[in-house]
Amino acid sequence: MRTFLVVLLATSLAASPALSDPRPVGLGPSLATDEAGLWEESSKAERAAQQSADFNNDPELTAYVGGVTCKVATPYCDDIRVYVMDRPVLNAQMAPNGYSEVWTGLMLRSTSEAELAFVLGHEAVHFIENHSIEAWRAQKTRANVMLAISAGVAIAGVAAMANAPTIDVAQSIQDLTNAVIDGVYLAYVASFFAFSRANEAEADRLAFDRLVAAGYNPQAASVMWRNQIAEAAASDFPRVRVRGARASIFNTHPIDAERAATLEALAAKTGKTGELGRERYRAAIRPHLAGWLKADLGRRDYGQTLHIIDRLAATGDDIGVLEFFRGETYRRRRKDGDQDKALAAYLAASTAPDAPVAVWRELGDMQVKTGATADARFSYEKYLAMVPDAQDRWIVEASLKKLTGTSGT
Ligand SMILES: [Zn+2]
Repeated sequence: MRTFLVVLLATSLAASPALSDPRPVGLGPSLATDEAGLWEESSKAERAAQQSADFNNDPELTAYVGGVTCKVATPYCDDIRVYVMDRPVLNAQMAPNGYSEVWTGLMLRSTSEAELAFVLGHEAVHFIENHSIEAWRAQKTRANVMLAISAGVAIAGVAAMANAPTIDVAQSIQDLTNAVIDGVYLAYVASFFAFSRANEAEADRLAFDRLVAAGYNPQAASVMWRNQIAEAAASDFPRVRVRGARASIFNTHPIDAERAATLEALAAKTGKTGELGRERYRAAIRPHLAGWLKADLGRRDYGQTLHIIDRLAATGDDIGVLEFFRGETYRRRRKDGDQDKALAAYLAASTAPDAPVAVWRELGDMQVKTGATADARFSYEKYLAMVPDAQDRWIVEASLKKLTGTSGT
């Protein structure tokens, strides 16, 4: 009865369910409520995501992420749609209508399924607990904001993104290139729903419970935040290092270290163990690893890319791909000693069965630079033998021709 009265009161005031309760499973908003308006705008953003060139619609990856989502979002599995977006920044977001984005920068930085599951659980809780509606109702000028959202979704929201304060997990939004920013609709919509610190804390706490209930290792919840702090410290850019030390660039979010410590305390208290799903996770991202590392290099923060590679290489998997990209990172960075480091990394990659064939070409170029012409010849010939119809065959043949007659080591 009491519940009924509360619901009735809330309905008469705000024409929506009581927000202290989780939302009902499988239910959209009532018509003619403010929530219905939010869903409509979110649906526009969702359609834009579906049509975006960044949308990674690889069926296996989509099925994998959907499966992990279901494990931690139960019984709301059918109410939540997670889109993987090819964007090299750590970010995950939830729209009011259950449409969610996980960016590949986050997936590249996760080392286990349990880490991803925690993030997906966190986003699911924002939806289940009606956080965007709560944030919406806290807005002072809602009518104008709705107009702005509407216009922003219709155009692009590029300018607005530059100071969007409420990307859910983004740590380095300032590092986004214009190409990435263009058409990031959900971020634009989300910029109007600054989740309160209380909501963020609740999302972490309830996501933690969901992680444990799904049988995952509770220790995994804090790993991403600890890694983020370490990665910020490894940045080439002083402003990123300072920001990392200080924590999140947005005051709306709990400080990373504080967040990590809270989750570590929760893990210690449960005393439970569970699975990390490390191998399963790596198997799921393996086909995308090279593409995501290449995209990460596009951010031009080589210290951070090396940090990511170190973390991925710690398990001893995918050494051919990882050492190749380590070589690529040093080759592009060009600091003192980087040439030798690139050469060493390419060599390490070349002995691994999963090395990209391009390693032989890069190795050849590097060996030319260091005067190891006989080795360079061997590498170039190996490359041409492995990729007979390479598009750059003529370039490699020209390089080989130049080497002819020169004495090598
Ligand atoms: Zn959040």
